[in-house]
Parts: sequence; structure tokens; C-alpha cells
Amino acid sequence: MPYNKIYLKPGKEESLKRFHPWIFSGAIARIDGKPDEGEVVEVYTSEKEFIAEGHFQTGSITVRVLSFKQEPIDHEFWKRRLSAAYDVRKRIGLAADPVNNTYRLVHGEGDHLSGLVIDVYAGTAVMQAHSVGMHIYRMAIVEALSEIMGDQIENIYYKSETTVPFKAVPFSEDGFLKGGSTDNIAQEYGLKFHVDWLKGQKTGFFVDQRENRALLERYSNGRSALNMFCYTGGFSFYAMRGGAKLVHSVDSSAKAIELTNNNVELNFPGDERHTAYAEDAFRYLDRMGDQYDLIVLDPPAFAKHRKAIRNALQGYRRLNAKAIEKIKPGGILFTFSCSQVVSKDDFRAAVFTAAAMSGRSVRILHQLTQPADHPVNIYHPEGEYLKGLVLYVE
Ligand code: SAH
Repeated sequence: MPYNKIYLKPGKEESLKRFHPWIFSGAIARIDGKPDEGEVVEVYTSEKEFIAEGHFQTGSITVRVLSFKQEPIDHEFWKRRLSAAYDVRKRIGLAADPVNNTYRLVHGEGDHLSGLVIDVYAGTAVMQAHSVGMHIYRMAIVEALSEIMGDQIENIYYKSETTVPFKAVPFSEDGFLKGGSTDNIAQEYGLKFHVDWLKGQKTGFFVDQRENRALLERYSNGRSALNMFCYTGGFSFYAMRGGAKLVHSVDSSAKAIELTNNNVELNFPGDERHTAYAEDAFRYLDRMGDQYDLIVLDPPAFAKHRKAIRNALQGYRRLNAKAIEKIKPGGILFTFSCSQVVSKDDFRAAVFTAAAMSGRSVRILHQLTQPADHPVNIYHPEGEYLKGLVLYVE
């Protein structure tokens, strides 16, 4: 069946010529036929030349490009795209490692699959659709993934209740699209953790902090650590393995504290170095003393859209100012922002201001970002979202 066609306004094909994968509603002159939400459409220039094809969706981003070639979006297409993603992970040594069996297999535009995220946790893949198109095509993706990864993936859990734009589609609830295991223990560099793919945030774990956690481990020996915004406790169990004297984990969610305690127990049963607190970050930072010489600040995205940037930057300033003010001399601060709309420079300026407010001498030891299994498509710089600084505070 031929795909419906969309025609762009004159000159609006420029970004597509540079392989940017989003077409905004303002670029569109006319839509032939009545494409359904999530349907594949072909995109033509005002000169009636084919330029791209992708998933249609009502909204600011009207088309998410799947291909810049005119080709059927069929089983073979999904297989090609997923194989390419899997090959990258194999080539960078991430797939099929028994002590590090957690990785992101598909990172949206970074893998030329706008709107799709797949994380692998041991034998289970957790798949998340961020567009109606990926939701509609979920079974085609599951079939292709099963063929490519064979025995490696026994279960595929679909977790899109909070990410597919609801109004657009009647939503079928989350659940297993393949298999149905309850064994949810995975490993990251030999450390074990439970993945809560039923109720957890994102796909159940923050895979994107793996390399930054490994770096923290190297700085943990003999230190007193505070893991602020701990969620499932990732940074905490690395600090413990790295030889920290004491580790305190804080999160405002009681459920997160329960997950953290379970994960610490899984790796270090009965270890008294660790205590977790369910408390608001700002309150905890206000009341805490100056006992920490290793602090992690990994807050949720303070800005989800452009309008919120100003407030977000103020939040980062306040948060970092409190930590820099109280960290022990010679202390090390790992500070992050995962807000995609907050640029690296803006985040750095916010931390700079926080440091200046404290009047202390602060040096940058490392500048961190997302790991290799969260690749950034060079034609889609918006894909870079995680920013981190490691600071040495005298
Ligand atoms: N560092 C974590 C991920 C952090 S996600 C990891 O490595 O996996 C952000 C966390 O911040 C969430 O668990 C959320 O519950 C928590 N959070 C949000 N607002 C908070 C606040 N005001 N005070 C403390 N924790 C908060």
C-alpha cells in the first residue's frame, strides 16, 4: 500500500538534507489523504522530490524520520535497524558480558530509531515507545528483535504507559510481549541490582550513569559519601565497593529508598556502612553537617521544556551551592544535569556561580557525559542530554 504524502513549504527541506530526523508542523505545506496517528508517511519537497519517510503524529514534531531512502518499513527494515544497533554494542564490547549485562540497545535518534528506547537487563529487554508510531509498530519490533537476538533475550517487557502521548491512541496496558520472567536481577560491572520494570522510572534503572558510577568507585576509598537523588542506589553500591567509610543515600521517594536498601543488601549483606533516608534534597542539604568528602548530586530533569530553563538553572545553582558550601576540604563533588534543554555551557555556568557563592577554591577534574551505548547522532545534537562535572573543592 502506498504511503500517504506530505509536502513541505519551499526551503523547509534544508534540515532534512542535513539528516535531521524531525519535521516540525510549521514546515508542512499540505498533507495528502488522512494519515492515522503513527502511520508511515512519505515527505516531499515543494519541488515534489522525495526527501524522507517516517512516523506521522499530530503535534509540534509531525514526522519522525525513519529513513532518508524510499523503502518499505517492513520486517526487513526493523531487522536492519536493530541489527545495526546491536552491532555497535557488540563492537564496543557491551553485549554478551556476563558481569556487565545491562546496556542500552536502542537510543532513539542515536540509533536512527526516533521514538524508541530499548534497554537490556540480563535476559530481558525493556522497550519504551516515545511516539505513537513506535507504539503502533511494537509487535513488528518485537518480532525483529527476537530474530536478531535469539536466545540472548528471553523476555521483552513493554513499558510505555507514561511515554506514549496518550490522547492520540487508545492505550493497551504495559506488559510482556515475549516471555514473562520474574527474575529481575541484572549486573553492572559485577554489581547486582533489581530492575523494577513494572513500576520503576524510565525502563527501571538509570543505565546512563554506568561509566560515571565506575569513575566514582575510583574516588571512594576512605571517604564519607552522600548519594543525593539515589533512586535505586547505583552510585551507593559503587562507593561501597570502592572502600568508602560510610555511604548515605537520600531520595524523596520512599519507594526509591526501599529499592536502594534492597540493592545494597544484594551486594553487601549486613554492611553497616550504608544508611538511606527518604527526605527532600534541599531539606537534607540544609540540615546536614560537614561530614561528607564525596557527594553525588544527580537530580531529575529540572527543565523538561525550554520555558522552564530559567527556573531549572536556579535550581542547579541552589543545589550545588549547598553542596559546595558544606563539602569537607579536599572533597569531591559529582554533579549532574540530565535536562536535555539545559546546555553544557549553561549548566557549567550555574555550577560556576554556585562555586563563586561559596567563595571556595574549586577545580574541575572531569567533564562527564552519557556513555557510548547512548550515542548521539551527529545530525541530531539534541540527543546529547547528560552533563556532569567532577569538582575538587579545597
Ligand atoms: N542517581 C540515580 C538516578 C536519579 S533519578 C541513579 O543513578 O540511578 C532522580 C531521583 O530524584 C528520583 O529517584 C526521584 O525520586 C528523586 N527526587 C526528585 N525530587 C527530589 C527531591 N526534591 N529530593 C530528593 N529526591 C528527589
